[in-house]
Amino acid sequence: MRYISTRGQAAPASFSEILLEGLASDGGLYMPETWPTVTFDELEAWKSLPYADLAAKLLAKFATDIPPETLLMLTRAAYTPEVFQHARNGEDAKKIFPVRQLEKGIFLLQLSNGPTLAFKDAAMQILGQLLSWALEKQNKTLTILGATSGDTGSAAIHALRGKKRVKVAMLSPAGRMSDFQRAQMYSVLDANVMNIAVKGMFDDCQDLVKTLNADSSFKAKHHLGAVNSINWARVVAQTAYYISAYLQTIKVIGDSVSFCVPSGNFGNAFAGLVAKFMGVPIDRIIVATNENDVLHRALQTGRYTPTDVAQATSSPSMDITKASNFERAVFEAADHDGKLVAEMWTRLANERKIDFAKDYPAVWGRLASLGLSSSTSTHKDRLAKIKLAHERWGIFIDPHTADGVKGALELRESEETMIILETAQAGKFAPTIREALGIEPPIPKGFENLTSLQQKVETIKVDPEALKAKIDNFA
Ligand SMILES: *Cc1c(COP(=O)(O)O)cnc(C)c1O
Repeated sequence: MRYISTRGQAAPASFSEILLEGLASDGGLYMPETWPTVTFDELEAWKSLPYADLAAKLLAKFATDIPPETLLMLTRAAYTPEVFQHARNGEDAKKIFPVRQLEKGIFLLQLSNGPTLAFKDAAMQILGQLLSWALEKQNKTLTILGATSGDTGSAAIHALRGKKRVKVAMLSPAGRMSDFQRAQMYSVLDANVMNIAVKGMFDDCQDLVKTLNADSSFKAKHHLGAVNSINWARVVAQTAYYISAYLQTIKVIGDSVSFCVPSGNFGNAFAGLVAKFMGVPIDRIIVATNENDVLHRALQTGRYTPTDVAQATSSPSMDITKASNFERAVFEAADHDGKLVAEMWTRLANERKIDFAKDYPAVWGRLASLGLSSSTSTHKDRLAKIKLAHERWGIFIDPHTADGVKGALELRESEETMIILETAQAGKFAPTIREALGIEPPIPKGFENLTSLQQKVETIKVDPEALKAKIDNFA
């Protein structure tokens, strides 16, 4: 299996080669050259597998340059009930990502039982295993340099802490995360983890990362790498839980289901499309957005108009206006024509929009037929859905999952089997839950004293030289 860039210029590469890469050299994102398929017979056989084994079978179709038994060893190390132990509601942590029926036709895929209580652990844990394995094999070391507004950095730190050969330098905006998120990151004291609070906004953090990456001698000296959500391994790791959810929900293989996915960078939703491209009977993927509804508007109107600044909302991990992974869906709709996608994105840079409906009607037609639907929501909607979930289903949901519940209830057709993806636990976002319900969300075992634990963090101004000095000292 070879990987090609959505912009058509970068040389094709293997799974192991792109494991440590962010953007391709032409500025595009990597995609498999063709889609591997999964047959109904395979799905039948996968039904009885533990999650780790199912994930290994799926990965083997994409990581053809890694021996299947190695993949199995790595998925079995990543997906254990000990790592995904924060089950609630009497659910079974052994299932890793259990599906819970909420009512007739509506299900919740519980993805937030991992160490940071958000779905990003699902992909980050296996990525950590793959990275360690690859570095060991190639006798290399790596410094992961990232910027986070919360969940991604936290999941990366928890997946990579204590690992030999990997160092993590994670930038976060000083004073702009919740107490819980801050404590979750800064209380990791392992020597290979450095938290850097930047006196600025998330965008400043991201710009610093870009600046250091653009300095090729600094980048080479420290072997800088990234684990952001355009990383292909992260996307495909998420495809595994779509298949697991499908198998947990349907009566017979061949029944179709739909998913509703709280979306920011479109990585999670795209992972669902991958399952569909492979032949899993998925009817639609609903892209649930919040007030930052660029994707919703694009899918409704055919005009993609990302803005520069995201609006701050109560589902902050979805406060993104440039959904990077959307380019992958467009590449698919453009029949893997990298030249055409490159032209569209040049246009985007110049005209700040792509008018698919007007300028690329064939691509728009195919984009519209991928099976994507979409919704948007407001703070008021989130409060209402948190309340509804508590009263009608007896569960606590977080504000991001609430965006998903809104989309699912609004768009579900009768007889449609709808699986909502839970992206975080309510306990991470206590103030919004308090506002909705007037009570505290449950705090999972082990997190009671989180905010009073010792923290380790370095603080810098928005200054590339200051950041370089920190990394020079750290490495
Ligand atoms: C990252 C995140 C999202 C958005 O996921 P994408 O893959 O970026 O679309 C939604 N909810 C939570 C809680 C997240 O951490």
